[in-house]
Amino acid sequence: MSRFPVKKVAVLGAGVMGAQIAAHLVNVKVNVVLFDLPAKEGPKNGIVTKAIEGLKKLKPSPLGVADDAALIEQANYEEHLEQLRGCDLIIEAIAERMDWKLDLYKRIAPFVSPHALVASNTSGLSITKLSEALPDAIKPRFCGIHFFNPPRYMYLVELINTPTTEPQVLDQLESFVTTALGKGVVRAKDSPNFIANRVGIAGMLGTMKEVENFGLSFDVVDDLTGKKLGRASSGTFRTADVVGLDTMNHVIKTLQDNLSEATDPFYPSFGTPPVLAKLLELGNLGQKTKAGFYKKVGRDVMRFDLESEDYMPAGQKADEVYGRMLKKPAGERLRLLRESEGPQGQFLWAILRNSFHYAAVHLASIAETARDVDLALRWGFGMKQGPFEMWQEAGWLQVANWIKEDIAAGKTLCNAPLPDWVFSGPVADAGGVHTAEGSWNPTASKFVARHALPVYGRQLFPETVSGFHQGLGVGTPFETTGKTLHEDDSIRLWTMDDQIVIASIKSKMHAIDPDVAEGLSIAVDMAEKDYQGVVIWSGDEPFSAGADLAGMLPGFMMGGVAAIDEAEGALQAVMLKLRYANVPVVSAVRGLALGGGCEMAVHSARRVVAMESYIGLVEVGVGLVPGAGGLTYIARRAAEVAALSTHKDLLPFVTEGFTAAAMAKVGTSALESRKLGYLLDSDLVVPNKDELLFVAINEAKAMFAAGYRAPHKRLFPVAGRSGKATIQGQLVNMRDGGFISQHDFHIASLIAGVVTGGDVETGTLVSEEYLMTLERRAFCSLLEHPKTQERIMGMLSSGKPLRN
Ligand code: NAD
Repeated sequence: MSRFPVKKVAVLGAGVMGAQIAAHLVNVKVNVVLFDLPAKEGPKNGIVTKAIEGLKKLKPSPLGVADDAALIEQANYEEHLEQLRGCDLIIEAIAERMDWKLDLYKRIAPFVSPHALVASNTSGLSITKLSEALPDAIKPRFCGIHFFNPPRYMYLVELINTPTTEPQVLDQLESFVTTALGKGVVRAKDSPNFIANRVGIAGMLGTMKEVENFGLSFDVVDDLTGKKLGRASSGTFRTADVVGLDTMNHVIKTLQDNLSEATDPFYPSFGTPPVLAKLLELGNLGQKTKAGFYKKVGRDVMRFDLESEDYMPAGQKADEVYGRMLKKPAGERLRLLRESEGPQGQFLWAILRNSFHYAAVHLASIAETARDVDLALRWGFGMKQGPFEMWQEAGWLQVANWIKEDIAAGKTLCNAPLPDWVFSGPVADAGGVHTAEGSWNPTASKFVARHALPVYGRQLFPETVSGFHQGLGVGTPFETTGKTLHEDDSIRLWTMDDQIVIASIKSKMHAIDPDVAEGLSIAVDMAEKDYQGVVIWSGDEPFSAGADLAGMLPGFMMGGVAAIDEAEGALQAVMLKLRYANVPVVSAVRGLALGGGCEMAVHSARRVVAMESYIGLVEVGVGLVPGAGGLTYIARRAAEVAALSTHKDLLPFVTEGFTAAAMAKVGTSALESRKLGYLLDSDLVVPNKDELLFVAINEAKAMFAAGYRAPHKRLFPVAGRSGKATIQGQLVNMRDGGFISQHDFHIASLIAGVVTGGDVETGTLVSEEYLMTLERRAFCSLLEHPKTQERIMGMLSSGKPLRN
């Protein structure tokens, strides 16, 4: 396959989806021009301009950095169609009307470059029908590209071909969407609503039907169908309230309009649930109208009652016995639920059985393989496991027979039989649809592996369905792959290639405890002797939630502050060891890198960072200051940046870092973390989470090959006591104005004292060790402060920061 270089993308339609897709393209450094209709009044780009302004205010933010909205080029169909000629990919995301889309295609066709791909983001229209309006020259380059809302955060993208799409087109697009946009691609057939929305929404409607059948209340259902079931913690009805009942109704209507009993035997169960119809009639649309299935009255949560058409107290939980059942291994879990007498257990079995039944009956018409269905539901609906995975884990034939019995007994949503391949042939022989060879493709009657695109070589341990792994370590997860060099409960040092030492933290939330510190130190020793570098990568999120606070307490109780001083000193020494190692240490950051996690990253030679990374020094939240070199880093970076600037005044640079730490600011993306100073321009931002390890290893090797040497240990100037006085002047105002508490003031003053270098003249040259001593002192003095102790205990007991 030849490369498909995408220099510029045009997005047509600046609505909810188009504008956010444009924003995401900017996030990943793809040039983008956003089109919409010409405005009837004022400047012709008015609609697009307004949409881009809207992007800056939207939460969660579609943009990595709000100011980057300016990078989206604005255009309208009246003045700027010529601009399409320079675009390699055109994504259409205008309103969901076949006639409007077809009109637009006719209009743009003369301006589409001969190599450009054209793709529609429709969620319900037939891609094949859409393609029919296109000139023959464009047809082979047309397909569907179905993003999920919000596109920056939703991992799933469904790609859909038509009978005339050239196979290479989907390969090229899949590669681009995977590696450049950082998404998980699933190929769907051109069937109504494609895979995720078809199976997901049918599942939701089926669930509501069973809620009626078993007479359960919403709060109990949400308790049963949330985290306990491996789904979004908001369960069924609270999720609907968050999404908006009008939006949900719209999606349900698409399913109702696009299907019929002839195309889907489950169709009779797709009726709008009476309770939803009533809520819509009352205008109770969920969170946006402050009332839906639930309503908050004062501090109490109430639930809607259809009979009285009024709200009554909610908060009822499911029977504990079902919580316990849901923790059992899959086979036992399903058996217990199926045999349980109570309506809650029966309900759970019914909704799981319905999901298996639906997925099996429709597999051949909606997807190439069972893997696509499972991944689409994981990535599009936040499920921990898709239907086929759970079914297979529970025991394929056993569950299949249970479903068959239920169909015969009239308990299922419809009496469509399970397909023959379920009971006999390769699937039955293999005990399920997922095997090491690949996943079941009922059309080809064989197990098919994932498309062997070169981009997938960049995913060393890709997220895939349970049952088998398709990474380097076929059949083994990263935890047991490669050669182990050192391992305890907190960290594993290993190598895949005898060139790079990978340090994978195993502790809860990847917290940094003394064993992690010791492990990192060993990693550097080993690498300096026998390897090319160290990569700190721990598989899943977070990178690290920080120092292990709870683990510190016993030391403090027994040895007092002296014990902590020693432990902090040891941790600081490890940070310096990472920084001055004679081989490159690369931190592969994904998710949270807070406190000690941030300090570990900033002391590495380089950071390779997933787009969705949230980095910051947050110690203030527990009444502390960064103690493992975070403040030393801020002072050093300020001196380095000031040295590069023309006016050389250190204080403004110090103040920026001070503010980030004193306000516990956390970057809301890799890009914003860079703005806060925790990432450098030379650090790499990786759109796809699954490529992080590959890039980090290659970066470490490239640095080694380029003759990496540790930085010089230099003294650097600090802002000194007058700098501290200036910062503190502002703090006094904040305290006296009631914006911060006395204890906040005290902590912020301590931070100011460290980042300005203590009681010295402006411009005094200091070492990192000197600053680290100041940092440790500030940290330890706070540990003895009753208000800090209150904050720590508050955090440990409630998980939330306490303001005092
Ligand atoms: P929207 O209503 O927010 O935006 C539609 C845009 O189309 C508007 O900016 C409008 O000015 C423009 N438009 C309207 N009529 C037009 C015409 N005749 N010619 C050209 N442009 C016209 O819609 P949306 O929610 O962003 O949906 C856009 C597409 O994405 C639809 O096909 C929808 O099915 C699909 N989609 C939506 C979601 C979602 O959650 N909203 C998710 C996935 C896919």
